[in-house]
Amino acid sequence: MNDAMINRSKIIVAIDGHSSTGKSTLAKALARKLEYTYVDTGAMYRAVALYCLRNNLVDVSGKVSDLLAGICADGKSIRIEFRTDDDCARTFLNGEDVEREIRSVAVAAAVSPVSAVPAVRKFLVEQQQLMGRDRGVVMDGRDIGTVVFPDAELKIFMTAAPEIRAERRFLELKAKGENVDFDEVLRNIEERDRLDSSREHSPLRKADNALVLDNSHMTPADQLGWLLLRAEAVIYAE
Ligand code: C5P
Repeated sequence: MNDAMINRSKIIVAIDGHSSTGKSTLAKALARKLEYTYVDTGAMYRAVALYCLRNNLVDVSGKVSDLLAGICADGKSIRIEFRTDDDCARTFLNGEDVEREIRSVAVAAAVSPVSAVPAVRKFLVEQQQLMGRDRGVVMDGRDIGTVVFPDAELKIFMTAAPEIRAERRFLELKAKGENVDFDEVLRNIEERDRLDSSREHSPLRKADNALVLDNSHMTPADQLGWLLLRAEAVIYAE
């Protein structure tokens, strides 16, 4: 590490955007380069959705039980942690590794209605703010630049054409051995865009001072190069 790196100030990089735009891949790669902590807030909402599925708190039509608000407010029944293993952050729900299960189609279908519940958002936003208290974090989600850290030094809003996002997600799920249908994946992505953007509390929207990254035709390496340039410009200007 050179002197310039030691003297640099730590910032918060907020990465928001549509579903399946590769936010977490990019956020993770940037965090590794900067030696920052990476926080996947989508994994936290997914873990709460999994808890709801397991405890019959959400039905197939997306109706969420009123009991969930009380469960979040008590702050004891749902404990979410990240543990790093072989350079890979894994999500734990009440001590159980649920990293694989939270990426399933069932959880993807339940997560938008669950994350629209104000008590869920309050519960998770408080934890996210604590995780970024000392700065030096790259956090990705839907409301990081608008609600969680409106004062983030660098805000990015990622997007890409829905068909391209569905194709990437479809290949990812197939590679994991999930039996999926392309049209179902595309429908889920479009439905999540619609629900995430139209919900009453903390809807997905670009923060006024966020930079837009449309990665429809960019490789992961192009995206990292683009972002690293901008992050370093902010870090060294601080
Ligand atoms: O980022 P990911 O696709 O894993 O997020 C899953 C879902 O969690 C989103 O579709 C959205 O409903 C919810 N979410 C949210 N706010 C965040 C992160 C995710 O509402 N900050």
